[in-house]
Amino acid sequence: MRIHDLKQRLREAGAGPSHEHRVLRLWSHALPRDSGRRLPRTFFPASLMAALPAIEAELAGLARVHTIHPGADGAERMLVALADGQTVESVLLPRDGLCVSSQVGCAVGCRFCMTGQGGLLRQVGSAEIVAQVALARMRRPVRRVVFMGMGEPAHNLDNVMEAIELLGTVGDIGHKNLVFSTVGDPRVFERLPQGRVKPALALSLHTTRDALRKELLPRAPAMAPEALVEAGERYARATGHPIQYQWTLLEGVNDGDEDIEGIVRLLSGKYGVLNMIPFNAVDGADFRRPSWERCRKIARTLHERGILTKLRHSAGQDVDGGCGQLRARVAEAPLR
Ligand code: SF4
Repeated sequence: MRIHDLKQRLREAGAGPSHEHRVLRLWSHALPRDSGRRLPRTFFPASLMAALPAIEAELAGLARVHTIHPGADGAERMLVALADGQTVESVLLPRDGLCVSSQVGCAVGCRFCMTGQGGLLRQVGSAEIVAQVALARMRRPVRRVVFMGMGEPAHNLDNVMEAIELLGTVGDIGHKNLVFSTVGDPRVFERLPQGRVKPALALSLHTTRDALRKELLPRAPAMAPEALVEAGERYARATGHPIQYQWTLLEGVNDGDEDIEGIVRLLSGKYGVLNMIPFNAVDGADFRRPSWERCRKIARTLHERGILTKLRHSAGQDVDGGCGQLRARVAEAPLR
């Protein structure tokens, strides 16, 4: 279901703007219908009251928690079952964050990512994206939503933009706390500035060498690293949200001097931060994680050369490593 269709159904059932706002707010905050001071039966038109049970049942059926996998760092990986039996991963992050999935599978095919190995199965609808937030809010507060789970948000732009608009308005998530993560696609730089809610942007860079990037991200749109950083810089300056450049550290591939020099050349003076995350082992991927000592040395060197660099582990990585691995494991043992 698209949020657009949901709004249409509410209007057909007699909802005015304030009724629609209330229904969407209760849903996206996972609150019961009787929350708040005005009781629905005195506030909603009778026709809407009559239609609500069916609409609410449909919203509740969009997604359910299949399994929860707590990590040692306080993160929790949730495997979420969608109504048609497909599954996606959401990760409850420390400090009230949530990582959501925007596609079942992914067409970009990054060679270090489990999700990319199986290709794209289907898009996740805008209502299913918000349903992931509602499910998470049944367990913890959510004040930050990052689109860094399964899928490339740029390949499902209409649904992702619709979900972002709802989360940044009735969903009460601050706009800079909505993070659209992409490998880089010209359509993102055209559409995001036009949205009512302008999210922060995370750009998956991984290397500053165009040829290597094409190898690592074989089906990413053809945007050279220089063009990507330039477009990101324009967006960051226009919105006031610094860019988060993402870099998965792969031993012997993108952890050498050539890439360090490339980072200094491309990112010096830019309004952004470089997040380096050592690679998580993926079945069938032919990469290794550099030693923690090596990772720290790279981060220190970049810091000394003026690049704001954060070295992180990916959240919940002790639970089946990176994105897509939980789903892959469950795919071998079908849903009950
Ligand atoms: Fe897709 Fe992201 Fe995995 Fe690349 S890293 S294949 S863009 S899900």
